[in-house]
Amino acid sequence: MRKPIIAGNWKMYKTPKESLAFLDAFLPLVEDHTRDEILLCPTMSSLGYVLEATIGTNVRGCAQNMHWLNEGPYTGEISPVMLMSIGCRHVLLGHSEQRLYFNETDDRVNLKLKAALNHGLTPIVCVGETLAEREEGRTEETIRRQIRIALQNVSSAEAHRLVIAYEPVWAIGTGSTATPDIAEEAHRIVRHELALCCSELTAEATRILYGGSVKPENISELMAQPDIDGALVGGASLVPETFAKIVHYT
Ligand code: PEP
Repeated sequence: MRKPIIAGNWKMYKTPKESLAFLDAFLPLVEDHTRDEILLCPTMSSLGYVLEATIGTNVRGCAQNMHWLNEGPYTGEISPVMLMSIGCRHVLLGHSEQRLYFNETDDRVNLKLKAALNHGLTPIVCVGETLAEREEGRTEETIRRQIRIALQNVSSAEAHRLVIAYEPVWAIGTGSTATPDIAEEAHRIVRHELALCCSELTAEATRILYGGSVKPENISELMAQPDIDGALVGGASLVPETFAKIVHYT
């Protein structure tokens, strides 16, 4: 059984005050919800506040990125040890905005993934093709490469907490969602590659989330697909009522 995850990625939005106001409105809307794990990924300045305000609730805070080393002269970075020390247990890695604007590479995602697993963090590794890659017929090749390199030297036993988010870059923040069929096809590719890189067991156990313009209107048909185990939601997670509707998909 793969318990679905509905994760909200707040990107570079919301001050601590706005984050806490979100939680005041959101937590009562989802307080009895047990079917899915609920995550919120705030900016670094809000993460500690969100982690503290969600203690004892069914919502967890998740970092948007991290460095792979424990400490060092890396201005602007945060380490896995530091995330663990504030009670953070989840981290997004390889988000397409990091790949696109900040030169994130497959090799660095691999270092970060291994560090996250070693420190007891649950990594959510984002993969997905650009529009050009899809149009050139390179979707499968791109997803397979991203998974293969991310999982280099990661054993099946180590990968038991791994989560993947398939996020076609052309669907992020554009309003155009992948159809359920397109998303399901990509998720099957991800699962197959997980079996090749790790094991059948890892492939069966790993939650694969879909991300890219998820909204209350399309979440149910996406979640009806057998290989879609949750959603990573950007824009639509910023408003408590909208994100709660997504959490309560049917
Ligand atoms: C994201 O930020 O991961 C994302 C999927 O954004 P949006 O839902 O806005 O497309």
